Amino acid sequence: MATAFRYLVLFFAFLAGTFSGLAETSPTPAPVLEVPAAAPPSPNFDVEAATDAWLATVPADKKARSDAYFEGGYWLQLWDFLVSAAIMLGLLQSRLSARIREWAGRLTARKNLQTLVYFVPFLLVMSILQFPLTLYEGYVREHHYRLSTQTFGGWFRDQVVGLAVAAVLGAVAVMVLFAIVRRLGRSWWVWGAIASVILLAITALIAPVYIAPLFNTYTKLNDPRIKDPILSMARANGIPATDVYEDDASRQSTRVSANVSGFLGTERITLNDNLLQRCTTEEIQTTMGHEMGHYVLHHIYKDILFFGVLFLGAFGFLQWSLNWSLARWGQRWQIQGITDVAVLPLAALLLSIFFFVTTPLSNTWSRTQEYEADIFGLNAARQPDGEAAIDLKLGDYRKLDPGPVEEFLFFDHPGGRTRITAAMRWKRENLSRLEAPSVQSPGTPQGPPAQP
Ligand SMILES: [Zn+2]
Repeated sequence: MATAFRYLVLFFAFLAGTFSGLAETSPTPAPVLEVPAAAPPSPNFDVEAATDAWLATVPADKKARSDAYFEGGYWLQLWDFLVSAAIMLGLLQSRLSARIREWAGRLTARKNLQTLVYFVPFLLVMSILQFPLTLYEGYVREHHYRLSTQTFGGWFRDQVVGLAVAAVLGAVAVMVLFAIVRRLGRSWWVWGAIASVILLAITALIAPVYIAPLFNTYTKLNDPRIKDPILSMARANGIPATDVYEDDASRQSTRVSANVSGFLGTERITLNDNLLQRCTTEEIQTTMGHEMGHYVLHHIYKDILFFGVLFLGAFGFLQWSLNWSLARWGQRWQIQGITDVAVLPLAALLLSIFFFVTTPLSNTWSRTQEYEADIFGLNAARQPDGEAAIDLKLGDYRKLDPGPVEEFLFFDHPGGRTRITAAMRWKRENLSRLEAPSVQSPGTPQGPPAQP
C-alpha cells in the first residue's frame, strides 16, 4: 500500500498486529527443543558463549538470505517514500489535484461531501501508480525469499480488501480533519492531532473484531495441551483470559508470529498457525509470556500516548510547512489555502517527510516495548532456551546480528543477538531455579520450577 497513504492512515493497522494468513486445527507441536552444546546449564555458564552457540546453529546460507532480505527492506523504505513523494508532487504540479477539486465542486455544493468525492479518485490514482512497487514488494520479492505462500489471486484479493478498508477509514479521517481545519482556524493542528489519536484508538479497538477477520480466520485454540498451560500462565499474571486465538497466517506466509490486539474489552492474544506447527512447547510458552507482557505492561495505552505526542509534533510541522509551501507554490498549484481539499497531496507529502525522518524514534519506542515484553516473557514462562530458539526462527525475516546503529535506525523489535543475550543472561541468573530435566531433555512438559 502507498507509503504516504500508510502514514495518513497509520491509525488503521498498527495495533492490529499482523494481517498476514488456511485454517487447520493445530496439531501437537511435534518439534523438540535442541539446546546447543555451549548452552546447557552448568556452574560456569557463559552468557556470550551460549549466545554465540545459539546463533551458530543457523546455517551460513540461511543467515545470508535473511540478512539480504532485511537489508533490502531498508532501501525499500526509501523507495516507498520517494515514489509516493513523486506521485504527490506530480498531482500538484500537473494541477490534477485542483482539477479533481473542481470536479467535486460541480457534483456537490456541500464541503464535507466535496472532501469525500475528492478522496475516492485521489486514493485510486495513488494506489494505481504505486501498484508496480506494491507488487514487487508484497508479492514478487516475498516469493523470491520463499516467505509467501499466496497465489497471485489470493494476494491481489487481500490488496483489494486492504484498499477498501483504507478507503472507508481514510475517508472518515480526511472528512474529520478537513472539518476541523475549516471550523477551528489557527488552532486546527492541535485539534487535528487530538482527533487523529482518537481515530487511532477507535481503529485499534475495532481492528481485532472487524478488520483482522477480513484477512484471516480466527479460531479459539482448543488443544488443552497447549491451551491449559497458557491459561495457567495468564491467571498467574493477573490476566482474566479464558480463550487464546489461532489465526491461519499460513494462508499468506511462512512467518512465525503472535500478537496482542485490541483494548477496552476487545483485547485478545493470537498465535499464528505457523508458530503452532513449527515450534516446541517451550517456544510457544515463551512467546505467550511475551504477548502477555504487552498486555500486563499496558503497552497499547502507552502506544496511544506516544502517538499522541508524535502526532502533535507531526501536525505542528504540518501547520508550519503547509503555510510555507503554499506561500511559495500555492498559486501555481491552484490551491486556495489549507481549507481547500486540493491541498491533500501536499499535506500527505509533508506528513510522510515527518514520519520518514522520525522512523528511528518510532522504531525505538516499539523496540523498547518489545524488549520489556521479552523480559516479562522470560520471567513468566521461564523458558530461556525456548526464547533463544524462537528468536532464531524470527530470523527467517529479520536480520539476526545487526550493528548497534543499524538496530537503532531500522529495528522495531530487538535484533536476534540482543534477544538471545537477554535470554541467556536470565538463564545464568536463574540456574539454581531451573530444573535440569525441564531444560535439558527435549520435549519434557514444563513442570513447576523448584523454588529455592
Ligand atoms: Zn511483541
